Amino acid sequence: MSRPVSYNLIKKPLEADISMAPMPSGHQGEGFFATSLNSVIGLARKNSIWPLPFATSCCGIEFMATMGSHYDLARFGSERVGFSPRQCDLLMVMGTIAKKMGPVVKQVYLQMAEPRWVIAVGACASSGGIFDTYSVLQGIDQVVPVDVYVPGCPPRPEAIIDGVLRIQDLVGKESLRRRNSETYKALLESYGIQ
Ligand code: SF4
Repeated sequence: MSRPVSYNLIKKPLEADISMAPMPSGHQGEGFFATSLNSVIGLARKNSIWPLPFATSCCGIEFMATMGSHYDLARFGSERVGFSPRQCDLLMVMGTIAKKMGPVVKQVYLQMAEPRWVIAVGACASSGGIFDTYSVLQGIDQVVPVDVYVPGCPPRPEAIIDGVLRIQDLVGKESLRRRNSETYKALLESYGIQ
């Protein structure tokens, strides 16, 4: 007896659902491919970013949608969201940060190992947003260095994904020497970080 409903009649090859990371620039020939260490490490890092969501209010809800199946941050290798700073390399601050939370954001940043990156998601994290008051930090870049700002109140999940893509660009192109450079040390020193 045949089944009343047929499904999966047209099977797609598995490769059709998989997008491969593009190769870094280099030299290719019969049986070899040569590129720079910077490019290889950048490629690995940018496609395996582990975010730490520091969500304090409404923007955090947009991040939850970003992690859900519809927007699916896992497509960019960032599905491993962690709440232990020592295992994460991307601090995503989402929401209003009161001044008394500032030292907590900084503490979390300090507990992350280098190399680490920071996204300020939404108007509140970027600039205090509509809360121009005595109690709200007017942007997290007053306590930690920020790499990418995502505008919006709240930013849609597409905007958050765009912020992650901008971080991927930075991570992929970052020189391995940057974290030891005088410029970077001076940046950290300006935040009182040794
Ligand atoms: S930017 Fe807007 S949506 Fe995001 S935390 Fe602030 S008030 Fe809420």
